Amino acid sequence: MPVSQVKSLLLIASHISGYPIPSEAPPPVYLATPQEIAHEACADDPLSQLSCSIIGFYEYPIPGQTERIVIDNNPDVAGHSANSIAVHELTHWLQYRNWKNPDDHSCPREFLREYQAYLAGFTYEVQYEHQAPPEGFDTPQVSCPWPKS
Ligand SMILES: [Zn+2]
Repeated sequence: MPVSQVKSLLLIASHISGYPIPSEAPPPVYLATPQEIAHEACADDPLSQLSCSIIGFYEYPIPGQTERIVIDNNPDVAGHSANSIAVHELTHWLQYRNWKNPDDHSCPREFLREYQAYLAGFTYEVQYEHQAPPEGFDTPQVSCPWPKS
């Protein structure tokens, strides 16, 4: 995805999420086939690769990884454009750069991480792509236990 397009989408992700844009350059955004994404993101075993439902990911800049965003190259993945997936993943980048302990993946923080990213992606679809508001949503890949009352 061209850098100018990434910067435009980053402005939108920042506006929607409320996170300021840091001084660092945003990570590169690569388009990949569903098979390539499954190979990287669902690499546990052949069955999880076959049933992989991941359509994009942000790779954190931790040792052994190169910071980047990879998104599905299909023009319409289950109703989501590459731009809206990029807004979701760029929101993760903004969280990573703005949160005090970005490598903490405990619950309910992990739920908050996905909630904010899904909210940004859906808001982009409604405000910029003029899609109908979703009837509901959840945060796939994240299940946190409810706090005990
Ligand atoms: Zn996410």
